[in-house]
Amino acid sequence: MSRLSGKTSLITGGSRGIGAAIAEKLAQEGSHIAFTYLSSPEKAQEVAERLKSYNVKVMAYQSDASDHHAAKDLVSKVIEDFGGLDILVNNAGITKDNLILRMSEEQWDQVIQVNLKSVFNLTKFTVAHMMRQRKGSIINITSVVGVFGNAGQSNYSASKAGMIGFTKSIAKEVASRNIRCNAIAPGFIETEMTHVLDEKTKENFLKNIPLGRLAQGSEVADAVSFLASDQSSYITGQVLSVCGGLNM
Ligand code: NAP
Repeated sequence: MSRLSGKTSLITGGSRGIGAAIAEKLAQEGSHIAFTYLSSPEKAQEVAERLKSYNVKVMAYQSDASDHHAAKDLVSKVIEDFGGLDILVNNAGITKDNLILRMSEEQWDQVIQVNLKSVFNLTKFTVAHMMRQRKGSIINITSVVGVFGNAGQSNYSASKAGMIGFTKSIAKEVASRNIRCNAIAPGFIETEMTHVLDEKTKENFLKNIPLGRLAQGSEVADAVSFLASDQSSYITGQVLSVCGGLNM
């Protein structure tokens, strides 16, 4: 039997990149999959069709993770459609990079809303359900820059550092109900988010990666699958870096 057989997972931002890889890995492991997207309905449809080949139930929902009321409606709908919810992966995220002197209030607010407030939104409504069923695993996709910081990414780094504090606090709040909450800090993963970086930035990153290469989304997904499963039953409140040893 696959290690997530019979479970239901909700992944935010599953239409592309790391989120799509996570959705696929959890489906391979036997989990039913609910995932969200915002602006890529065709890509979401492609992912949903691909995942159905794993003989699990798959549904894609258009929902803005940064919208509190939309998150409430989403969680209710997923529980109604699937009959439960066991695993939440807060993956949706954006970048709006700029040096602090040039950063607009809008760039700051958007990144904090999408990357950090979304995690509060989804976790709040999912935990209410997980508490009643007295089990669950929440995995937040933060970033190594939330630990090390990065010039030109003060908004993004602050949102990702905020996710780490949130993860550790929630782990303490819900542990007595057999709910675990962990974070994964990817380093430099090949997705549309990193394709926009200039060559100099990429070269600088590569110089500092002992494994000497970028990672694929599937390598982050493998870590998510472990933290989602009962094989990590004594792990909570932790940040697992998937970064090739990167030291910024
Ligand atoms: P990506 O390729 O840009 O994909 C982002 C995903 O998030 C898309 O599915 C997008 O949906 C969704 N999304 C964006 N805003 C949303 C919103 N408001 N509500 C719901 N969904 C939303 O990004 P990625 O590289 O896969 O990154 C995934 C996560 O990993 C992010 O949290 C990112 O910060 C983190 N991360 C990435 C790297 C990296 O090197 N790539 C490193 C560290 C951490 P639509 O396509 O429908 O708009």
